[in-house]
Amino acid sequence: MSRPAGVAGATGSSGPRVAVVGAGAIGLSVAWHLVRAGAGEVTVLEAAHVAAGSSSRSVGMVETQYLDAHEIAMRAYGRRLVDALERDHGLRFAREGYLRLAHDGDDLHAFELSAALQAEEGCDGRVVDASEVARLVPDLAAGACAGGLWGPSDGYVDGSDYCSLLAALVRHAGATIRSGCPVVAAEPGPTLVTPAGRFPADVVVNAAGPWAGRVGDLLGAPVALVPQLHEVVSVALRRPLGYVMPFVMDYVPRSGREGVYFRQDGPGRLVAGLHSDEAVHPGADPDAPLGVPDAGVVELLASRLAELLPRLDDAGAGGGWSGLYPTTPDGFPVVGRHPAAPDVVCALGAGGVGIQLSPAIGRAAAELCTTGSSPSVPDDSRWSASRLAGWTA
Ligand SMILES: Cc1cc2nc3c(=O)[nH]c(=O)nc-3n(C[C@H](O)[C@H](O)[C@H](O)COP(=O)(O)OP(=O)(O)OC[C@H]3O[C@@H](n4cnc5c(N)ncnc54)[C@H](O)[C@@H]3O)c2cc1C
Repeated sequence: MSRPAGVAGATGSSGPRVAVVGAGAIGLSVAWHLVRAGAGEVTVLEAAHVAAGSSSRSVGMVETQYLDAHEIAMRAYGRRLVDALERDHGLRFAREGYLRLAHDGDDLHAFELSAALQAEEGCDGRVVDASEVARLVPDLAAGACAGGLWGPSDGYVDGSDYCSLLAALVRHAGATIRSGCPVVAAEPGPTLVTPAGRFPADVVVNAAGPWAGRVGDLLGAPVALVPQLHEVVSVALRRPLGYVMPFVMDYVPRSGREGVYFRQDGPGRLVAGLHSDEAVHPGADPDAPLGVPDAGVVELLASRLAELLPRLDDAGAGGGWSGLYPTTPDGFPVVGRHPAAPDVVCALGAGGVGIQLSPAIGRAAAELCTTGSSPSVPDDSRWSASRLAGWTA
């Protein structure tokens, strides 16, 4: 990776000129970690505006209820960073709790291991039995689960607010964010070409979310991505719950099946959707218009919710929004220097968990830009860019 000496950056220090493509949660987190590390010139090029892509369409959960050490460690870093943004900059983080349902003893065993790993990271996730689940979610159907993994201090942010805060911090530190500035071509160097001018850089970060495949092609750094269309359905309650419904997730990571989730969204309303970390649908066109969930999805979710929350069967499902998970073929992000173009750093493919992973991905990508390697995402990790070579776009 080229790293010219003495390039005076907007932050006033020397270091590589970094051009980040995309001002979503991940591109902005990369930029923020770069300016915090005192990197040289940092420019974020954004086709539309801050949080124009998936980041404003998420349900914003930030949690650590995962099953293996790497996945938990990456999320624990995210939790700490969101806590710090709340404390130091007033980010709204609604700590309403996160409950992952267990279906059987095998799930509970995996959840016990998760709780132990979380404790090592200073997180408070713990296993709860079916009676405690019933206390946490009194409307959940009896027999719906064998227990759960409960993160009492997990919660959600608003994706747009989170991005706006990061953008303000990045700008305050002297970096530039260019909105309405799509990258349309790249020249060797690398130099990014946009309708607003040409941007030479030492390192380019591909953080283009669902468009990362297209941007990768422009950069000569191809990326296989399978953008997944996901809908969020709004559910109007007919009566007050009398308690705060936590986020409930009926999906066990890496199970390969899509599970239903729901959480409270202000008084009298839930939001609900279907989630999988894996690519379970054909890839969607990232430029296709995104509308409200279609009638088939609303009907499917309404029937799944009626099974899980039978006492709320008079609730009215309808309306909501849709968005894209920027998912890779194996469902893990790609964070690393591109094997075919070492001056391109990939920070992409975070699927349906890119808000909670954006701090860890941003930290690792910034390390790669400034030092050429990342201790938190070594080359043999499951986020490694070496996987790209095995995928066809
Ligand atoms: C319905 C739904 C629910 C979700 N819920 C959660 C959740 O609860 N928790 C969680 O952690 N995650 C959740 N996610 C996932 C999360 O939203 C994404 O993983 C995350 O927003 C991805 O961020 P990103 O920065 O990679 O992409 P984006 O936010 O899409 O940003 C990419 C940016 O790149 C720009 N861009 C594209 N092409 C170019 C170009 N050529 N030149 C310049 N700019 C370009 C786009 O305009 C866009 O602004 C959810 C997603 C959806 C759709």
